Amino acid sequence: RKEQLQLLATVDAVTKDGTFFNLAANMSSVKELDIALQNGAKGVGLFRTEFLYMDRHSFPTEEEQFEVYRHVAEKAGQSSVVIRTFDIGGDKQLDYFSLPEEDNPFLGYRAIRICLDRTELFQTQLAAILRASAFGNVKIMYPMISSVDEIRQANEILRQAMADLDRRGIAYDPNIKVGIMIEVPAAVAIADLLAEEADFFSIGTNDLVQYVLAVDRMNEQIAHMYHPFHPAVLRMLRTTVEAAHQAGIPVSVCGELAGDERAIPIWLELGVKDLSMSPQSLLRVKHRILNTNAAEAKKEAAACFKLRTNTAVEERLNAFAERCS
Ligand code: PEP
Ligand code: MG
Repeated sequence: RKEQLQLLATVDAVTKDGTFFNLAANMSSVKELDIALQNGAKGVGLFRTEFLYMDRHSFPTEEEQFEVYRHVAEKAGQSSVVIRTFDIGGDKQLDYFSLPEEDNPFLGYRAIRICLDRTELFQTQLAAILRASAFGNVKIMYPMISSVDEIRQANEILRQAMADLDRRGIAYDPNIKVGIMIEVPAAVAIADLLAEEADFFSIGTNDLVQYVLAVDRMNEQIAHMYHPFHPAVLRMLRTTVEAAHQAGIPVSVCGELAGDERAIPIWLELGVKDLSMSPQSLLRVKHRILNTNAAEAKKEAAACFKLRTNTAVEERLNAFAERCS
C-alpha cells in the first residue's frame, strides 16, 4: 500500500471531475525537504524557522540563516518556498533568550510580538530571507498577525532590511511577496482589511482552532474539546477565504486540517486550491483527492456549513470520506 501510494508522487492532485489542488509541504527542519520532494510536494507552503534558534547558545547570525534559506530555495527550484519569520514564544522557549515567565504564554510575548519589540533580531532574519530570494522563489510570511498596524510595522522593518542590503550591494528580489498567517480570531474578523495589506493569506488552523474555541492546543485534559470541525471554525474559514477572494489575493491552508482528508469537501466548497501539510500526509491526501468527485463533495460541504454541531459535521464528513476511499 505504501508502494502504491508512492506511485502517486508524480501524479497531479486532481479530483475525478477535474478540480486541481496544489499540495505543498510544511517543514520544521531542513531534512524534511527530501521527504517532501520525494512525495511530490509542489513547493514549501510553510517553512517553520524556529529550529534555527533552538538547541544552541546564541541567536543564529544572518549568514547562518542565509545559508539554510538559500539551500532550501535552490533545492525547491521554481517552486515557491514560504519562509515564516520566527514564531518563538508560546510553547517554544530558548535557553539563551530569557523570556519572562508568563501565566498565559499562548496569549503572551511570542512570534511577531517579539519581532516588533526586538527589531534587530527581526531585521537580521528578514535580511537572511531577502538574500535567499536571489536564489529561488522565496516568499515571506508573518505569524500571529492580529492587526493592520503589525503588518505595517513589520513591512517597515522589511524596508529597512532592504535599504541595508542596498547599501551593502547585496542582491535580493525587490518584488518578494509578503503574506500573513491567519491564525488569530481578530485577523479573521478584519480579514477584508488585512487583505489590502498582504500579498497572500495562509490559514493556520492549529492556532486558529485553539484561539476560537479557547482550548489550549497542548492541554491533554481538554484535548477532547479541540474541534477543527466546530461550526465556529468553519465560519471563520469561510470569512477568511471570502475576504481573500474578494481582494484577489491567494489563500492557502497550512494547519493540520490541510492534512486531514475529511476536510477536502470543505476546501472544494470554499474554493481553496492550495494546501500545505506535513510531508507524510501528501500522498494520502492526494489519493483521496483523486477518488473524490468535486461536485458531490461540494454538496456535502454546503450541507455541513448548515449543521449546528461539530459532531454532526464530523459524522457527515466521515461518511462521505468512507464513500471516497
Ligand atoms: C498553525 O498554527 O496552524 C500553524 C500552521 O503554525 P504552527 O503549528 O507552527 O503554530
Ligand atoms: Mg501557529
